[in-house]
Amino acid sequence: MILSKSEIEEFNRKYHNKETDAFNNYINSVRKQLETLHHAWQEITKDKDNNIIKDNDYSLSDMITISLEFFACFDKDIYTNLLKILNDDSVKLNFSEPSAENRGNNCGIKDWRRFINLNPTNNVFGLTTVCHEFAHLTSQRMQEKKMPKSEYIGEVESMFIEKVFAKYLLDKKIISEEEYDAVNISLIKSVSNRLEAVFQENDILNFLKGDILTEEKLAEGEKLLKNSPNKDAILNRIQSIAKGTIKSDVDFRYIIGEVVSELLFEEYKKEPQKTTAKFKEYLKHNADIDPQSMVVELIGKSPEETVSDYLALFRELSDIEQE
Ligand SMILES: [Zn+2]
Repeated sequence: MILSKSEIEEFNRKYHNKETDAFNNYINSVRKQLETLHHAWQEITKDKDNNIIKDNDYSLSDMITISLEFFACFDKDIYTNLLKILNDDSVKLNFSEPSAENRGNNCGIKDWRRFINLNPTNNVFGLTTVCHEFAHLTSQRMQEKKMPKSEYIGEVESMFIEKVFAKYLLDKKIISEEEYDAVNISLIKSVSNRLEAVFQENDILNFLKGDILTEEKLAEGEKLLKNSPNKDAILNRIQSIAKGTIKSDVDFRYIIGEVVSELLFEEYKKEPQKTTAKFKEYLKHNADIDPQSMVVELIGKSPEETVSDYLALFRELSDIEQE
């Protein structure tokens, strides 16, 4: 069954508030421990050298082969579904050879047609991105051309598989320890930055209480942000939101995706089969579950407890004492 336009509108209307609630719960939970998160983040990345990542000489076909070999090891059903999509003539494939700069990778459904764009960089990040995009193709909604879940927490499927893939690459000695660390750190870093931006954005939007952003209000906002190293970027973002150029909740799915997939990966390391079975059930969801319920289904805890567990993991990784 394919959802009609009016059904999608109905879905968006019905779940918009739920998303906002889940989002605010996460924000409130993270708000309480943001300092710890940043502290931990600095500890984790302290001795890491970003220049360690070398270009590699993989062709796109090498990257695809490595990714497909991984999917075949990871799970037979997921692998079969992925091959089905990649061999389906109705799917628009737009593949480019790896290059020095990243020109964007994504996949989705446009005008009821599935597409996948791959323009990977020629290093380990490009390789894990190929796997990330393929992971999106393994969900039921991509098989059935249903869209809605991707707007909510569709990034769980791709971020979780990306973590399992990175570990596989390390175990098979396809990548070095340094590259493995770099992949994990880049995932943590992106969520840490997003959390900070969204957290501060949320403060300012609360502070504005829906008012139009005036010069005076902006000056007050600047005061709120005076100690933030990302002050200019955040203020630009706030102005864009005020002007309606971008949506404030644009990063929601990546934050939830990272928090949930990190915890799921921890579980996977202890119980791979059980976790994979649960994950496969999750892939079956389309527009039949709201984000909060999906977090509960995958992690078995409320969003607030899930965030606390995520932050606890951070502390563990960085050996920071519990406050
Ligand atoms: Zn993605």
